[in-house]
Amino acid sequence: MDSTSAEEILRHVFGYNSFRSHQGEIVHHVIDGGDALVLMPTGGGKSLCYQIPAIVRPGTAIVVSPLIALMQDQVSALKELGVAAAFLNSSNSAEEAKLTWGKLLRGELDLLYVSPERLLSPGFLDRLAGVSSIALFAIDEAHCVSQWGHDFRPEYRQLSVLHERFPNVPRIALTATADEPTRREIIEQLGLGSAKVFISGFDRPNINYRIIPKKDVRKQLLRLIKEEHPHDAGIVYCLSRKKVEETAAWLVTQGFRALPYHAGMSAAERQSNQETFIQEEGVIVVATIAFGMGIDKPNVRFVAHLDLPKSIEAYYQETGRAGRDGLPSTAWLAYGLSDIVILRQMIDSSESDDARKRVERNKLQSLFAFADSADCRRHLLLRYFGENPPTSCSNCDNCLEPPKVWDGTVAAQKALSCVYRTGQRFGAVYLAEVLTGAGSEKIQRFRHDQLSVYGIGKELSTDQWSSVFRQLAASGYLETDIEGFGSFSLAARAQEVLRGQVKVSFREDVRLRIAPSKKFRSGSNVPSSPGAEAIDQSLFERLRQKRLVLAKAQKLPPYVIFHDRTLQEIALTKPSNLEEFSRITGVGEHKLKRYGAAFLEVISAESDARVELVANV
Ligand code: ADP
Ligand code: ZN
Repeated sequence: MDSTSAEEILRHVFGYNSFRSHQGEIVHHVIDGGDALVLMPTGGGKSLCYQIPAIVRPGTAIVVSPLIALMQDQVSALKELGVAAAFLNSSNSAEEAKLTWGKLLRGELDLLYVSPERLLSPGFLDRLAGVSSIALFAIDEAHCVSQWGHDFRPEYRQLSVLHERFPNVPRIALTATADEPTRREIIEQLGLGSAKVFISGFDRPNINYRIIPKKDVRKQLLRLIKEEHPHDAGIVYCLSRKKVEETAAWLVTQGFRALPYHAGMSAAERQSNQETFIQEEGVIVVATIAFGMGIDKPNVRFVAHLDLPKSIEAYYQETGRAGRDGLPSTAWLAYGLSDIVILRQMIDSSESDDARKRVERNKLQSLFAFADSADCRRHLLLRYFGENPPTSCSNCDNCLEPPKVWDGTVAAQKALSCVYRTGQRFGAVYLAEVLTGAGSEKIQRFRHDQLSVYGIGKELSTDQWSSVFRQLAASGYLETDIEGFGSFSLAARAQEVLRGQVKVSFREDVRLRIAPSKKFRSGSNVPSSPGAEAIDQSLFERLRQKRLVLAKAQKLPPYVIFHDRTLQEIALTKPSNLEEFSRITGVGEHKLKRYGAAFLEVISAESDARVELVANV
């Protein structure tokens, strides 16, 4: 078929006006039979890159996907668009599988999603060879081949067999994982040496990044949710299962719909909570890192970390689950000295060999530096991934409210000597008491009121000293004990500070920030929702309700029917007939037929109600 078909399908099937970034190039490259490796951030629009070629090229596209939930979602979404799609995985009954094979062999499917286990099971590829034509192979979440990543799936390493068995079928591998070693591993393992590589920037401009010093973290979280996301779906990450349980239960007492998710729960419970999160609106999941992969719910409006993740990569990936639909979203993290102590201790006491521990410690160190930095968060993140971004973004805390930075060389010297003089076995709270000259019983017992460092730091409050100790630990001047009690000892490089060879600066902790929502959302780089101010909120709510009713009737997630963005555009433009309705982004022909009338009715009912209201006045 010719090249216009791809654009036509984009418009008529998907309801979109134009391709985004590299999508067009990728689609045409694959339609022409080329292999491709696609690196695109979450929410960038990877699926279209193989779905359109799958429709345009003759035969069925085989899509390898690692997670059942993900496959189900994609297949439901495609069916809603009127595209013939099915999946084969362990969730199918024998009956269903037979039916799907029948369709496949008769050439009735545009796309078949299949788990790697199923694809590599005995006889599968032989049967596949009997299919009259295969349009392409798509390998989704291709970073699962990487042994070093946390999504490693051993079966992915055998997928090079596809090329050996079907040398003439084009392959497209896709991932949102940015780093160079993973990219190399994908190319090597999948034999994609001659594939064209398409790399999109990894910026997520709609995400507002914020990191605050942890102090009464529940209260801080509550403020975030109440003031900025009272009715939104969100994910709250905690380090331990216990904290997950407790936080979820507590959020419920505060009137929110919150559900726990961690690896200690039964599979059935986890599944049910995940489904509720996907199918309902405004649910909060409190989770360990066990939750997230395979969740492509597009309207997760906030991701809150109550504990520090383990690396910058993990932070990027976890926060990246917010705002896949491109609408403004929040990535919020509360961070404190306890995070440094606990995470270091976890690495030190792990079973890993020394080389691995060193790598993990370095990664952690980069994350600490990131958390305590006064520079643009986005700049730091993107630079970490090898990009060359501008130095400010107008959509992170440090750009919107630049923190004060002060010369802390003398304070650092006092703090480090205090650690040394007291015998390198105390933590921040006690050390701050010694520095400020507190008269505690413990200080007298240890006779630390006799030391030269006693009371030499009265110019700072105990809170400010805690902040100094955290930042000294974060930047590697202080070691924390392996047992995780929080006592400090001097790192070798502390000598440079004590001898006055280096200057140290600290960022000032701002404890209670002004609710930033308005300010944060007006940043110039932020893609705002279509005319956010002009949207008729009550109409938007009714459209949302209609969507939920339609979704429930079909047991589908609401976003499979229309995305928030589409509803917003409807609420803004208020189409009055099907022709106008069809021009809304995200309304393809199939959805127009299926849902156009139902939503038009909501609009006209709303305006009738208005007219009546006016008439009655
Ligand atoms: P990814 O898999 O890269 O995270 P998706 O393929 O799920 O991203 O796409 C993210 C969102 O962007 C989806 O809601 C999708 O429908 C939408 N989208 C993709 N391409 C376009 C486009 N060209 N125009 C408008 N919306 C698009
Ligand atoms: Zn910034």
